[in-house]
Amino acid sequence: MKLNTHLIILGITLAGFNLSNAEDKPAANSNDKKSKPMENAKVIKTDEEWRQKLTPEQYAITRQAATERPNGKAYAEFNKQGEGTYYCICCGAELFTSNEKFHSGCGWPSFYDTSKAKNVSERIDDSTGMRRIETVCKRCDAHLGHVFEKEGFNTPTDRRFCINGAALNYVPKGGAAPKLEPVESLKVQDKKAEVKKAAGE
Ligand SMILES: [Zn+2]
Repeated sequence: MKLNTHLIILGITLAGFNLSNAEDKPAANSNDKKSKPMENAKVIKTDEEWRQKLTPEQYAITRQAATERPNGKAYAEFNKQGEGTYYCICCGAELFTSNEKFHSGCGWPSFYDTSKAKNVSERIDDSTGMRRIETVCKRCDAHLGHVFEKEGFNTPTDRRFCINGAALNYVPKGGAAPKLEPVESLKVQDKKAEVKKAAGE
């Protein structure tokens, strides 16, 4: 009989242990948050540094959200390109591949999806008074173009990533990927902002 009582007590203790374990779960989530700064790590450059790296057209498109004219030189080249990968002209992140490329006839390079690297972010753009979804490079915030949906294109997604050719660096299959511009963690970004602020005061 005495042994049974001990077992019951042990059972209650274990139940209590499990409960406190369940309560520990939010703490595990906050650990996930700690890993977020690296996810949000960005390539940070001054306007001057971007201007040095890019041509005036590339700068206007990627850093100032300009749009290249339709059916231009970049589009003509895009139509001639075969198998390969499209990287961000600013930071070298992989954005699209020729697998997702399709002919939409819109005058700008079109893809129905991003590459598996998932370096394209989407955000609401109300700048023209018409709601559109802007696409930007996840690593450096370069403006790439816009994405449109449900237009009836016979593609796996029926989405059209309408991208400025000048924002893309095409590398044919088998070619070397461009050098990746290094990212800075949020910690470094915050520190830089602090230093900047202190210098301005
Ligand atoms: Zn980029």
